[in-house]
Amino acid sequence: MQPLLDSLGRPLLDLRVSVTDRCNFRCTYCMPRNIFGKDFPFLEKEMIMSFEEIDRIVKIFVALGVRKVRLTGGEPLLRRNLPNLISMLSMMEIEIALTTNGVLLPRYAPALSAAGLDRVTVSLDAIDEATFASITDSGHTVAAVMAGIEAAESVGLGPIKINTVVKRNTNENEIFDLVTRFSNRDVAVRFIEYMDVGSTNGWKMDEVVPAREIREIIGAREPLTPENKNEVAKMYSLDDGGKVGIISSVTEPFCSNCSRARISADGRLYPCLFSSKGLDLLSLMRSGVSDSDLQGVIENFWSNRDDRYSENRSHHNSNRHRIEMSYIGG
Ligand code: SAM
Ligand code: SF4
Ligand code: SF4
Repeated sequence: MQPLLDSLGRPLLDLRVSVTDRCNFRCTYCMPRNIFGKDFPFLEKEMIMSFEEIDRIVKIFVALGVRKVRLTGGEPLLRRNLPNLISMLSMMEIEIALTTNGVLLPRYAPALSAAGLDRVTVSLDAIDEATFASITDSGHTVAAVMAGIEAAESVGLGPIKINTVVKRNTNENEIFDLVTRFSNRDVAVRFIEYMDVGSTNGWKMDEVVPAREIREIIGAREPLTPENKNEVAKMYSLDDGGKVGIISSVTEPFCSNCSRARISADGRLYPCLFSSKGLDLLSLMRSGVSDSDLQGVIENFWSNRDDRYSENRSHHNSNRHRIEMSYIGG
């Protein structure tokens, strides 16, 4: 099957679906508590896609060539009965992954795995409990995330990937400790440059720790051997057999390889993490559109896609409206 190409020749291969905009953490770079407090207008239940609606959309994306689906959020494990959705999706020939902050994995990992989930990525920004507490602002602990990682490994949801967002004067000191904590295990830690997603985190360029500096911090203590894989994360192997990745979304953008579509929990399709407007698939479905018309709308949408925000970052107006990461799904 020929992949569907956008206007810059990029195939549609990968779909991220947000299943909720709510979260049990308040990471300062993603959902700062002063904005995402108890009065924040989260999506009401009836505005969120049902599992049947998600299943229908995913089927259409699979017909268009998607082979990887990642469930995200907000915190996806807060969505009630999530294993039921995974059972439905597992009827398709796709890889199903999930990105989570990990603390609910001890409770749900067995059911997720039994339902057909293939892999999890767990976000963890620090090993030091005090640093973790100040970033996640939630009362949860590193120990709870570690228990989640172990629970996922024990039911075959590995190899686990760890996502670590690196922010200046916040957790650069944690980089090497994270590498050593997971080396000798089949766990790859991927360091992500802090991005200007949304407009609530007060992002500043000088808070980004560039990929080059992350490589230097690790490389000064352990040699890094680059692996030649065409992945979003540049992967390196360590002498002890461990692996680390660096995702340089800001300083070394990779838009030319971006084959990912995103759907928010309320069923809007976004061509880019930095889009300001999404295509409302949920309203279309609820208005009774047929599968073939829906497929045509999505095909047309992807064929016209020309987004490459990160490659043009310096030309964008900083006042432009941007979707929050917790809404669109990371
Ligand atoms: N709650 C889940 C979690 O934290 O894994 C899934 C959703 S979260 C939005 C997905 C990923 O986005 C996380 O790894 C998080 O660290 C990352 N993220 C959130 N805000 C970010 C930012 N401003 N820059 C870079 N990554 C960010
Ligand atoms: Fe929640 Fe994930 Fe955002 Fe942290 S990064 S606030 S865990 S959605
Ligand atoms: Fe893809 Fe947009 Fe990120 Fe570029 S900026 S890699 S197009 S999501």
